[in-house]
Amino acid sequence: MNAEVLTIGTELLLGQILDTNTLYLGKKLAEVGVNLYYKTTVGDNVARVREALTIACSRVDIVIITGGLGPTVDDITRQAVAEFTGRKLLVEEAVLSALEKRFLSRGIKMTDNNRQQAYLPEGASIIKNDNGTAPGFIVEYGKNILAAMPGVPMEMYPMMENGVIPYIAGKSGGENQVIKSRSLKVVGLGESLVDDRINDLFRESSNPTIGVYAHSNEVEIRLTAKAGDIKSAEKLIDGLEIKVRERVGDNIYGRDDETLEQKAGELLRKYAVTISAAESCTAGLFSNRLTNVPGSSEYFKGGLTAYSNGIKADVLGVDAGIIEKHGAVSGECALAMAAASRKLFGTDCAVSITGIAGPDGATAEKPVGLVYIALDMKGAEPLANKFVFPGAREGVRSRAAQTALWMLYGALKNRAGKTF
Ligand code: AMP
Ligand code: MG
Repeated sequence: MNAEVLTIGTELLLGQILDTNTLYLGKKLAEVGVNLYYKTTVGDNVARVREALTIACSRVDIVIITGGLGPTVDDITRQAVAEFTGRKLLVEEAVLSALEKRFLSRGIKMTDNNRQQAYLPEGASIIKNDNGTAPGFIVEYGKNILAAMPGVPMEMYPMMENGVIPYIAGKSGGENQVIKSRSLKVVGLGESLVDDRINDLFRESSNPTIGVYAHSNEVEIRLTAKAGDIKSAEKLIDGLEIKVRERVGDNIYGRDDETLEQKAGELLRKYAVTISAAESCTAGLFSNRLTNVPGSSEYFKGGLTAYSNGIKADVLGVDAGIIEKHGAVSGECALAMAAASRKLFGTDCAVSITGIAGPDGATAEKPVGLVYIALDMKGAEPLANKFVFPGAREGVRSRAAQTALWMLYGALKNRAGKTF
């Protein structure tokens, strides 16, 4: 079966909100093996919604509609679907009394326009909404299935999962294939280098397929398999993941929603290593990333933004002579910053970042994007790496923070089994 998503709402066309519903629906439909062929967005206008329904029904089996089911005058989805399918709008007594009860329990008077939400096209199946007032509905029209749900994502998600998907699965008689994707997150290797290492796999493999996507400071390798059920699809993906890891394994830090700060944090916790930071050009970005993770207080003690040379020397405790001799943007200064941070915060490990984020500040020897990152960890040789990151100020800073996390994660991984 194939589908079209029809999102309804003038705000979506005016650029006021982003259509995240289609994003979600695309993933969900793929999981149950329904091909999403088109997505359409229409404003709150009955004639245009009818027109969009006419087109959608002519080219797909299932139309998934979101938005326009609320109580206000611009909520026209019920009316448009009723007109399009030639059905009357009838009051659903059970829905109406549930609405009345809901308002009563909150001690609010139900206004008349709320009644509108209890009117559904004749013969429609109701999709319960546990998180809001407007129920959704499904109607069948010729060979087509039309499913309508409210636009509010938190209301819509469970209605899709508990109402629409089981309905579709029932119709397809279980002969559908499922589509399952897995993302491998790659850091420290650019898109073209990743591509270079796996492009033969890319050409050879048609199920699963491989996609390579560049994000702002990492690369995603997405493996997508089609099979009779999720388990079989995952088995296919497992096989290809092994091959991909043989080529880029060292640079893969995680899967799907995992983040680098999570993975580094897991190891800091596992080895009971405390950490602090000393940041110049990133001014706290690294510390911010590390503390995105709930519970990071267990290992992260603190960080100092040491932006000026004076603060690097007087507050952080870097020997002013090092800055004078090598400059603040140097491997020597980075090492001294990390060592000073460990001392200042009394930690097992410290990361320091110093560089030129631009657009000003470059010299003949030190270009914009030049960043030194140092890692000083108990029981290991301190290490400073030099990078020249591409991009403008924001990109340089975010790549520096990402790379610092990557260095930290790598160092912790290499220490597996050793005591600190
Ligand atoms: P509605 O069901 O049309 O009253 O929509 C209610 C609210 O849901 C809107 O004001 C938006 O904040 C949100 N919403 C509607 N459609 C979408 C969509 N396609 N993606 C994300 N949010 C949406
Ligand atoms: Mg709306």
